[in-house]
Amino acid sequence: MSQEETIAKLLTENRRGVCGTTFLQHYIPRFGGHIFNLRHDKNWDIVKERCDLHEHKNTQWKYRLIKSDTINYDVEENQNYSFNLY
Ligand SMILES: [Zn+2]
Repeated sequence: MSQEETIAKLLTENRRGVCGTTFLQHYIPRFGGHIFNLRHDKNWDIVKERCDLHEHKNTQWKYRLIKSDTINYDVEENQNYSFNLY
Protein backbone atom coordinates (compact mmCIF):
# COMPACT_ATOMS: atom_id res chain seq x y z
CA MET A 1 0.00 0.00 0.00
CA SER A 2 1.36 3.43 -0.87
CA GLN A 3 1.59 6.13 1.77
CA GLU A 4 -1.26 7.99 0.13
CA GLU A 5 -3.41 4.86 0.19
CA THR A 6 -2.59 4.38 3.87
CA ILE A 7 -3.64 7.96 4.60
CA ALA A 8 -6.84 7.55 2.58
CA LYS A 9 -7.64 4.37 4.51
CA LEU A 10 -6.99 6.01 7.89
CA LEU A 11 -9.17 9.01 6.99
CA THR A 12 -11.96 6.78 5.73
CA GLU A 13 -11.96 4.46 8.73
CA ASN A 14 -11.52 7.02 11.49
CA ARG A 15 -14.54 9.21 11.28
CA ARG A 16 -13.55 11.49 14.18
CA GLY A 17 -10.38 12.39 12.36
CA VAL A 18 -6.78 11.30 12.30
CA CYS A 19 -4.19 12.98 14.48
CA GLY A 20 -0.91 14.09 12.91
CA THR A 21 0.87 11.90 15.46
CA THR A 22 -1.00 8.89 14.07
CA PHE A 23 0.48 9.52 10.64
CA LEU A 24 3.91 9.69 12.24
CA GLN A 25 3.26 6.32 13.88
CA HIS A 26 2.62 4.98 10.40
CA TYR A 27 6.00 6.40 9.33
CA ILE A 28 4.50 9.09 7.12
CA PRO A 29 6.19 12.30 8.27
CA ARG A 30 5.25 14.11 5.05
CA PHE A 31 1.53 13.45 5.39
CA GLY A 32 0.78 17.11 4.63
CA GLY A 33 1.78 16.71 1.01
CA HIS A 34 -0.34 13.59 0.61
CA ILE A 35 -3.34 15.32 2.15
CA PHE A 36 -2.79 18.19 -0.27
CA ASN A 37 -2.89 15.67 -3.14
CA LEU A 38 -6.09 14.05 -1.87
CA ARG A 39 -7.70 17.48 -1.66
CA HIS A 40 -6.56 18.68 -5.06
CA ASP A 41 -6.30 15.55 -7.18
CA LYS A 42 -9.29 13.64 -5.80
CA ASN A 43 -11.33 16.62 -4.56
CA TRP A 44 -11.60 15.17 -1.08
CA ASP A 45 -12.94 17.59 1.51
CA ILE A 46 -10.56 17.26 4.46
CA VAL A 47 -10.67 19.71 7.37
CA LYS A 48 -7.81 20.45 9.73
CA GLU A 49 -8.93 20.78 13.34
CA ARG A 50 -7.35 20.98 16.76
CA CYS A 51 -6.90 17.40 17.97
CA ASP A 52 -9.43 16.43 20.64
CA LEU A 53 -8.65 12.75 20.40
CA HIS A 54 -5.69 12.83 22.73
CA GLU A 55 -4.41 14.90 25.64
CA HIS A 56 -1.69 17.00 24.01
CA LYS A 57 0.36 19.50 25.95
CA ASN A 58 0.90 21.51 22.78
CA THR A 59 -1.50 22.15 19.94
CA GLN A 60 -1.73 19.19 17.63
CA TRP A 61 -3.87 18.97 14.54
CA LYS A 62 -6.10 16.25 13.30
CA TYR A 63 -7.46 15.80 9.80
CA ARG A 64 -11.08 14.83 9.31
CA LEU A 65 -12.59 13.63 6.08
CA ILE A 66 -15.88 15.38 5.30
CA LYS A 67 -16.40 14.15 1.79
CA SER A 68 -14.50 11.80 -0.48
CA ASP A 69 -15.04 11.36 -4.20
CA THR A 70 -17.70 8.74 -3.44
CA ILE A 71 -19.13 9.43 0.03
CA ASN A 72 -20.41 12.50 1.83
CA TYR A 73 -19.80 11.79 5.51
CA ASP A 74 -21.68 14.87 6.71
CA VAL A 75 -24.92 12.92 6.70
CA GLU A 76 -23.46 10.57 9.32
CA GLU A 77 -22.59 13.31 11.73
CA ASN A 78 -24.92 12.24 14.52
CA GLN A 79 -24.11 8.57 14.33
CA ASN A 80 -21.73 6.83 16.65
CA TYR A 81 -18.30 6.21 15.28
CA SER A 82 -15.85 3.54 16.16
CA PHE A 83 -12.37 4.88 16.46
CA ASN A 84 -9.12 3.03 16.86
CA LEU A 85 -6.84 4.66 19.39
CA TYR A 86 -3.26 3.80 18.71
ZN1 LIG B 1 -3.84 13.79 18.79
